[in-house]
Amino acid sequence: MRILPLITRTVAAAAVTLLALLAAPGHTAPIAAKPAPSSSAAIWSQAVNERTGYMRQAVASYPWAEQSEQLRRHSEDADHEAADGTEQEVEVPPERISTPDTEPIFVTNPAGPVNCAEVRCVALTFDDGPVPNTRKVLAALSEVGARASFFMTGQMATAHPEIAAEVAAAGHELGNHGWSHTDFTELSEGELRSELSRTAVAIESATGWQPSMARPPYGSLTSQVSQAAEGPMIMWSTDSRDWQHRSAAHTHQQVIDTVEPGAIVLLHDLEASTAEATPLILRDLLAKGYHVVTVSEILGHSGEPGQVYSSGLRP
Ligand SMILES: [Zn+2]
Repeated sequence: MRILPLITRTVAAAAVTLLALLAAPGHTAPIAAKPAPSSSAAIWSQAVNERTGYMRQAVASYPWAEQSEQLRRHSEDADHEAADGTEQEVEVPPERISTPDTEPIFVTNPAGPVNCAEVRCVALTFDDGPVPNTRKVLAALSEVGARASFFMTGQMATAHPEIAAEVAAAGHELGNHGWSHTDFTELSEGELRSELSRTAVAIESATGWQPSMARPPYGSLTSQVSQAAEGPMIMWSTDSRDWQHRSAAHTHQQVIDTVEPGAIVLLHDLEASTAEATPLILRDLLAKGYHVVTVSEILGHSGEPGQVYSSGLRP
C-alpha cells in the first residue's frame, strides 16, 4: 500500500498517515530483515504483523481519535493549498536527528551509579506515549526510586508536552519512536529522517532533551533503516505482550516469567493495563534483586549510531 503522502509539514500530515494505515484493507507489514538475535525471522515477522494489527485497533480506540480526524481534514485543506503553491513545505534539517549536542545521556538511579556488568539489571521501556496513563507509570517508578526509558511518538509529545516534560523532569530516559508510528521500512530515507527529526524537535521543545536513541514502530527494522536513522536503534529481549492481551495480570506475569539479567523489556504506557501492572512488576523485580535502570545504563553507554541493541550487560 501507499502509506505516506508527505510528512514534512505539520501535525496534520501525520494524522493522514495514521488514518491511511487504519483504513488500508489487507495491509501486511513487511518482514523485518533484521530479526532480534534471540528470535527466528519467522517468529519475528509474525510478531511485527501482530503488532501492526494491534496498533490499528489501539489507535482507533484512542480518546483523541476524533482529534486525529480533525487533523486529517485540516491536512487535506493544507494539501490543497500546497497544490496551489500557496504553502511552502517546511523541512527540518536532517542533522537534528543525529547525536545530541549535550553529553550522552548516561545517568543513574538516585541510589547511585549502577554497573550492570556486576549486578543484575533490567531496563523497562515504555512506548507510544506520552499519554495520561504515563503519569501512573511515573508514580510507580517514583515510588521505588527506579528509572526507565520512554520511547515517545512526536504526535503524542506534541499532544501532551506537559506529560513529556514530567517524564524528563523525573530523570527518565527519552527515546524517539517516530512521529506518527509509521513502519519505518515503508518510508523513503527522506521520510524516515523527517519522522525522526520532527519527533526529536517535538520532544526537545517539550522537555529540553533531544533523544539520541530510537525504537522502530512494530519493531520493524532493516539494516538500511538502522543505517539511515543515524542513531542507535533499541529493540528488546523481553516482550511483555501487553499490546496483545491488554491485561494487567498477564503483563505482570509475562514480564516476571521471562525476564533475565540484562533484559530490555517492551511495555506500552499507552495501555491502561500496563500502567496498572507496573507497580506489581517493579515490586517483583526488586524482590528478585534487580536494579531497574535505563537503556543507557543497561548497555553501559548511550549507543552507537547505526547499531541495533536488544539487550544489555549482565553479571
Ligand atoms: Zn510503538
